[in-house]
Amino acid sequence: MGDRIFLSSPHMSDEGYEMEYVKEAFDTNWIAPLGENVNEFEKELAAKVGSKAAAALSSGTGALHLALRAAGVGESDIVFCPTLTFSATANPIIYQDASPVFIDSDYETWNMCPNALEEAFEKYPEVKAVIVVHLYGLSADMDKIVELCKKHNVVLIEDAAESLGTYYKGQHTGSFGDYGIFSFNGNKIITTSGGGMLVSNNEERIAKARFWATQSRDSARHYQHSELGFNYRMSNVVAGIGRGQLKVLDKRVNKKKYIYEFYKNELGGLEGVQFMPSNEWDEPNYWLSSMTLSGEVRPIDVFEALESENIESRPIWKPMHMQPFFEEYDFIGTDVSEKLFENGVCLPSDTKMTDDDLERTVNTIKMLW
Ligand SMILES: *Cc1c(COP(=O)(O)O)cnc(C)c1O
Repeated sequence: MGDRIFLSSPHMSDEGYEMEYVKEAFDTNWIAPLGENVNEFEKELAAKVGSKAAAALSSGTGALHLALRAAGVGESDIVFCPTLTFSATANPIIYQDASPVFIDSDYETWNMCPNALEEAFEKYPEVKAVIVVHLYGLSADMDKIVELCKKHNVVLIEDAAESLGTYYKGQHTGSFGDYGIFSFNGNKIITTSGGGMLVSNNEERIAKARFWATQSRDSARHYQHSELGFNYRMSNVVAGIGRGQLKVLDKRVNKKKYIYEFYKNELGGLEGVQFMPSNEWDEPNYWLSSMTLSGEVRPIDVFEALESENIESRPIWKPMHMQPFFEEYDFIGTDVSEKLFENGVCLPSDTKMTDDDLERTVNTIKMLW
């Protein structure tokens, strides 16, 4: 059997950029607490996405949690959240003792359906915040979503954990909302082994998030606290990895796009295969190449065939409103996200894949037809 092919795994730069920054932290004994790598990583990421300020944190989940706090979301508040996403989008709503209302996707973007969102605003005019996700690096329809949030005067948070390097009409995803978050978890397009970033044009709120993330220590000689604190900061070693990875982000996007085009050429013509949507206003990072199947070959056939060849693949996210933990919360929409889950396949999109690996993958799949 061939070597394991992964869905998406860490890929350090050939040039060794990450080690240079990490070594600098070691050489100066400045591995913690904060330091130059953290400060520079924040500046470099903010510049890349076009936001005024950024706070480097220990995870994307922590970044979402602080975004909700910064937005003033608290007990019994309602937050609109896409149903088709990873649970980390929804969990921080519960951390704040607030309630999610799950919103369906549309087939045009696979992301939050603006019509369902409008319907949700009618049903819950008291809503406190909206979280939008850019799934698999495909951007949501931001013009419509931003307009609806403005019209209802509600805070917009963008979960751009999967969309670093994705642009909507030339503007980077994560920079449309009042707050945006990114993740550097091991499976994301670039990784620090684990970490996250909160971005915003509101420098004051970002400063506040840094304060919360370092145990809410008031400025006093002794330990003084007037607010609940968290231990959510990124370490200076981890930030060094991030600075190195950011240098190869464009390269990683190009490779992801190559992988997507390879699959589309080889598999796009098979009966019942439909690739993830492409919209003229979207410049995706192609984090995970995904397709749906409507013919005789079912996703389970693909998963099993690939697994028997030591190749990783996955279903599309199981919607939150179908999860036992979130069952009690309301859902607005039809069956779009449910159908995407039933019919969807995420193909291995690891940037270390060779052409041979891609051939091995598509040949295994084609045998099913
Ligand atoms: C990965 C991910 C997160 C969480 O990021 P972590 O850094 O792993 O906490 C949140 N939302 C989405 C959509 C993700 O894919």
